[in-house]
Amino acid sequence: MTHYLKKNIPLQALHTFGVEAFAEYYFDIHTLEDLDTILRNYPEIPKPVLCLGGGSNIIFRQHYAGTVLAMRLMGISIIEETDDTVTVRCAAGEQWHSLVEWTVNQGWSGIENLALIPGTCGAAPIQNIGAYGMEIKETIIAVEWYDFASGQKNIFTNEQCHFEYRDSIFKKELANKGIITAITLQLSKKPDIRTSYADIRRILEEKHITEPTVRTIFDAVVEIRTRKLPDPKEYGNAGSFFKNPVISIEHFRHLQQSYPEIPHYPIDDITVKVPTGWLIEKAGWKGFRRGDIGVSPKQALVLINYGKAHTEEIIALSNDIVQDIQQRFSITLEREVSII
Ligand SMILES: Cc1cc2nc3c(=O)[nH]c(=O)nc-3n(C[C@H](O)[C@H](O)[C@H](O)COP(=O)(O)OP(=O)(O)OC[C@H]3O[C@@H](n4cnc5c(N)ncnc54)[C@H](O)[C@@H]3O)c2cc1C
Repeated sequence: MTHYLKKNIPLQALHTFGVEAFAEYYFDIHTLEDLDTILRNYPEIPKPVLCLGGGSNIIFRQHYAGTVLAMRLMGISIIEETDDTVTVRCAAGEQWHSLVEWTVNQGWSGIENLALIPGTCGAAPIQNIGAYGMEIKETIIAVEWYDFASGQKNIFTNEQCHFEYRDSIFKKELANKGIITAITLQLSKKPDIRTSYADIRRILEEKHITEPTVRTIFDAVVEIRTRKLPDPKEYGNAGSFFKNPVISIEHFRHLQQSYPEIPHYPIDDITVKVPTGWLIEKAGWKGFRRGDIGVSPKQALVLINYGKAHTEEIIALSNDIVQDIQQRFSITLEREVSII
């Protein structure tokens, strides 16, 4: 074994919200053998065991009284190519954005709207990452998963992942029971250009692009995200703190009477999705600050750490927002970020 079990490791720099926290035990996973070794040689390691990727969707409480396994498995390979498609396998520790950029450089389509989402490839299926009219569930064909209890390596098909909006089997039934070690995606050589989001159309118009390509969509998404989202390197944050609620058409029509401008995205004949950022902004929280925790002045969906925020303060502010949104709009917000 080339890497060792460490004790009392600070986690502040290992998650993008940057809250002070420690892991009782910590181990870097560089190979699948490392995983076998840690579970076989150290059966006494403190439980629970948690896999940490880029730490961009997780906030720690003061002390993690278990074992953190940091995902460092690397490697990208093409496993099949036809005239129309290319199948790519990517180890869980690879950076998601680097994978997106690499596929765009090849001219392949399928994940270009998911540019600049922080974190690792292994975490991407966990909450079925999505942005600007695209979700990873559309391209995933397999997820490789290592089971802590048995040491077995399993392969989940797309269907077995039970993908939903910001959700999957790995976030529910299988949470903390194992580790995703690799993902396989099928990308298209025939671009499926998605411009359903007004922000993307606006940028293309600004640049007089009438025939967008995979590359121009990627560039547009990078530009929008850089403009709109607070950079975790500047102020700690975990991106969208809450999910966008899906509500019934009746509920939506009722809200529309008071707020005719309320944005919405039809889901099916009976439900619509409403942007949480709009609700929070409308309720007057955008830019709100209490001590070292606040609501981003750039994007109301993002809570930010101005320096030394404690997790309890983050939870208190998020609870106040949830309560206020419930009272004003009769909508119950659900947290997207995991608080561990
Ligand atoms: C500025 C910003 C913008 C963002 N924008 C978006 C967006 O547009 N769309 C979106 O969907 N998300 C977005 N996110 C959220 C986040 O980037 C994604 O959820 C990302 O996939 C998390 O990856 P990670 O490696 O950082 O996971 P982590 O934060 O390290 O982990 C998240 C959860 O997954 C588990 N986990 C991580 N890796 C593994 C693994 N290999 N096996 C098993 N469990 C694992 C962890 O235990 C934890 O419960 C954003 C975050 C930030 C900070």
